[in-house]
Amino acid sequence: MAPDTVPFVNPPSPSNADDPRIGSFPADLHVHTVLSACAEVEMIPPLIVSQALSVGLRLLAVTDHNTGENAAAMVEAARNTGLHVLPGMELQTREEVHLLCLFDEVFPLEAWQEEVFRRLPPLANREDLFGPQWVVDATGEWIRTEERLLAVSADISLEEAVVRVRRLGGLPVPAHVDRPSFSLFANLGLVPPGLAISALEVSRNFRPAEGFIRRPQLRNWPLLASGDAHRLEDLRAVTRFRIVSPCLREIEMALRGQEGRCFEVDWPAR
Ligand SMILES: [Zn+2]
Ligand SMILES: [Zn+2]
Repeated sequence: MAPDTVPFVNPPSPSNADDPRIGSFPADLHVHTVLSACAEVEMIPPLIVSQALSVGLRLLAVTDHNTGENAAAMVEAARNTGLHVLPGMELQTREEVHLLCLFDEVFPLEAWQEEVFRRLPPLANREDLFGPQWVVDATGEWIRTEERLLAVSADISLEEAVVRVRRLGGLPVPAHVDRPSFSLFANLGLVPPGLAISALEVSRNFRPAEGFIRRPQLRNWPLLASGDAHRLEDLRAVTRFRIVSPCLREIEMALRGQEGRCFEVDWPAR
């Protein structure tokens, strides 16, 4: 079978494959809002929610650079729409590795954000160079401008970040590991032994046939594909979880292929 056509990274175990509670959750677990300086002005909660629904997403994680301050607004904007939002952050570690830090609730993310903020360098954002960083409400109304520079490394190692996110009940996922910068393999060369992760994320243009040749280590991991959306048209519904409910425990079971949970990815055509 050609790698591009491999649908299930972890096939469901036959005993639970027919569990009637299991449903399909198309997911994009890496989405930026206007709080990320590099995101477009259209990336406000109501527009992200409507675009997500229009491309068929049922599950989305909001992951701004080193902050979770728009997560509550995203959760609120999605309430009763059929889209479930996981609060999250895209941390930049001391080694300049990007790490998705996903949570089920806003409060552990807030605790994590406090820790990250304490360990960010005290630099001011340069709007003229990088763009503005806006905290908004669920309707997309401006609340305040974040003045500190967010797209910079926090003084936290990858290994410490993974441990601390796990302790807060979160799911850490190294982001876009196929990219030549700000990624696990580009910056560290390997997955540190004992790192408590369950999956790796690859960028939306990753093609297994070429990607596995360039980085054979990727064959050893469940791979999630996300949009890393900085504009609405980047939202992707290419990763589909088969889970009972859209929570981290179920996602983790799907990544491990446990009790009928699983996931599949539609890889881009060559
Ligand atoms: Zn990134
Ligand atoms: Zn990102």
